[in-house]
Amino acid sequence: MHLAWGEAEEAFRAQLLAFLDENAPPEARVRRDFAGNVRAGGDGSLIPQWAREWQATLFDHGWMIPGYPPELGGRNATPVQTLVYLEEMATLGIPRSVHFPGYAIVAPTLLDFGTPEQKALAPAAIRGDTVWCIGMSEPNAGSDLAGLQTRAVLDGDNFVINGQKVWTSYAMDAQLCCCYVRTDPDAAKHRGISMLIVDMKTPGIEIRPLRHLTGAADFAEVFFTDVVVPRENLVGNLHDGWRLTQGSLAHERAGLWVESVARLEQSINGLIELASRMGVADDPVVRRRIGEASQRATSLRALGYKGFTSFAQGSSAPEHSYLKLASSELGKALFELGMEIQGPYGTVTDEERSPDAGRWVLGLFVSFANTIAGGSSEIQRNIIAQRVLGLPRA
Ligand SMILES: Cc1cc2nc3c(=O)[nH]c(=O)nc-3n(C[C@H](O)[C@H](O)[C@H](O)COP(=O)(O)OP(=O)(O)OC[C@H]3O[C@@H](n4cnc5c(N)ncnc54)[C@H](O)[C@@H]3O)c2cc1C
Repeated sequence: MHLAWGEAEEAFRAQLLAFLDENAPPEARVRRDFAGNVRAGGDGSLIPQWAREWQATLFDHGWMIPGYPPELGGRNATPVQTLVYLEEMATLGIPRSVHFPGYAIVAPTLLDFGTPEQKALAPAAIRGDTVWCIGMSEPNAGSDLAGLQTRAVLDGDNFVINGQKVWTSYAMDAQLCCCYVRTDPDAAKHRGISMLIVDMKTPGIEIRPLRHLTGAADFAEVFFTDVVVPRENLVGNLHDGWRLTQGSLAHERAGLWVESVARLEQSINGLIELASRMGVADDPVVRRRIGEASQRATSLRALGYKGFTSFAQGSSAPEHSYLKLASSELGKALFELGMEIQGPYGTVTDEERSPDAGRWVLGLFVSFANTIAGGSSEIQRNIIAQRVLGLPRA
């Protein structure tokens, strides 16, 4: 058996590497093996100027979403070429964008379900010219998203929204929000939901930033009081928003694993360096734990290829639930090991005093969020139990 990339893929890779070599700004080349505080590499803002320019450059050269046509920031790449692209970017640690909702979730949703006017918003979402946020979660609706209670009442040509969203990433910088609201309170809970495009400058919207354990604040609570939204901002059919949530989450999952696995591999390399520097590289317990982690990361990469094959052939890929669960849990274990190896120094984030300047402690904090965002570990286990293993609902 001979497993290798074909000539066309290798030519595509060479083209990408030449482009990156020439165009990627220094800030984009700083490897980050955890979804760390973007402020650390930027100009103090949530979406630094270099990141805005870099995303636009990728779009203009057809490297933002290679599988899309040029007018959507791509070059009509095949699924396999897309995989080469994602792997190369993740291995080099070069981000496409520092704000994922617009290009990864909103644009595919608008292209699938939007009116011609709404579809026309997609290029700016992918290029990063418009910053979007996604208003799904609420204080009493996270894992059970269908339980959301933010109400929108149709009054003539407008909807009027009242309610609250929470954990809304980038709400402070966003111009537009994909907001999921209850439009029919009497229907079964999955039925009476609709999706509206909301201008974040509309009177009646209040945004209160929330801080992570790391100190960064990149998400917020968003309060809606009598917020008026034109009827034409409804995406898809009235009361049919649940179908859109399923579509948009599927888009998010398809490509997530490549980046997660590359980050795990970077963390494992970091642990090997750290163990050598701290003089514990010959400790049998440390060696065994790093070895086990490496074996698990390698299995995840293989599983990712298998899932990508199913996805590219148009089948569902249950591997994505395994990958989300296993990679986020392994990430947590790796950062815990980094902390253990460092001992008391692990808690110090000061560059002069701590080896790796807080890499392991900040990574540990972020790793908890990764086991929650995009569907918690418990929910992934439920999905695997029911949809993959055929076990009854608990
Ligand atoms: C970094 C980050 C960014 C986010 N960005 C956004 C965003 O941009 N927009 C947005 O709308 N949301 C966002 N979220 C919210 C995210 O989608 C929710 O946190 C997630 O869906 C979990 O919901 P919850 O926090 O309400 O927890 P809950 O659903 O209340 O769950 C609490 C705990 O109970 C467990 N649990 C719940 N139900 C079950 C069950 N049936 N069986 C077993 N265990 C269960 C969960 O696993 C969890 O451990 C973000 C979250 C994070 C961490």
